[in-house]
Amino acid sequence: MSSLFDLSGKRAFVTGANTGIGQGIAVALAEAGAMVTCAGRSSMGETLARIEAAGGTGAERLADLSDTRAAVEIFETAAAEEGPFDILVNNAGIIRRADAIEFTEQDWDDVLDLNLKTAFFLAQAFGKAAIAGKRHGSIVNIASVLSFQGGIRVASYTASKGGIAGITRLLACEWADKGVNVNAIAPGYIATNNTEALREDPDRSAAILARIPAGRWGAPADIGGAAVFLASAAARYVHGAIIPVDGGWLAR
Ligand code: NAD
Repeated sequence: MSSLFDLSGKRAFVTGANTGIGQGIAVALAEAGAMVTCAGRSSMGETLARIEAAGGTGAERLADLSDTRAAVEIFETAAAEEGPFDILVNNAGIIRRADAIEFTEQDWDDVLDLNLKTAFFLAQAFGKAAIAGKRHGSIVNIASVLSFQGGIRVASYTASKGGIAGITRLLACEWADKGVNVNAIAPGYIATNNTEALREDPDRSAAILARIPAGRWGAPADIGGAAVFLASAAARYVHGAIIPVDGGWLAR
């Protein structure tokens, strides 16, 4: 069975891999044998050290990915210099919190530009190359439980994650017969920078924990296995799925 999940010889491009969920995914893909290019705006030193400690190989590409053109440019440069990619993980994302009634246009645009626009155009660049080169490809988008639920005080984030679910399905419909698997993971409440404000609010933190059937917040490593599955031969007939990895949150 292990060969079904073996990513040896595969090359992955993971956005926002310096910390949190992106780091957990980058390390898991490397442990499964993939060479992982870690892309983002901050040094990938810690992630590359973890990849190497696990016996894997990684590389770093830096850019502000909220600039969609810059994001596509580093993806295409990395593919030209290192070789074409087999796996794209659209993970980089931000969140802004404010009541809907006060939500600013800036907080709308900043979140949508990175979480949705850049994710779509990176998928486009990846799909274009894979289809033209007649190579199999796997795209793993990072959605959220807010792809299914409304949330509160995170209007642009909820819009971006609803959008990610939508484009995951759309791209799956367009590319499933062209050798590209497009799927998403919907993490629940994971202890990262993204959720620091929630964890520091004793009332919200306790309310969230009480609703998680698994009885704990998730860790970035909890997301890695689903990413390996979706990137691997084990998921070849999985298209347009949005897989919750949420300790049972959505089942409640
Ligand atoms: P995080 O803040 O630890 O990681 C976010 C990553 O995005 C970091 O690597 C950061 O450097 C990168 N990033 C942010 N702005 C960037 C920019 N302009 N250019 C390049 N990189 C940029 O948070 P996380 O929780 O690990 O978030 C990763 C993904 O998981 C996001 O898409 C987030 O929406 C999603 N997610 C998180 C949770 C959670 O509970 N933590 C739940 C559901 C979905």
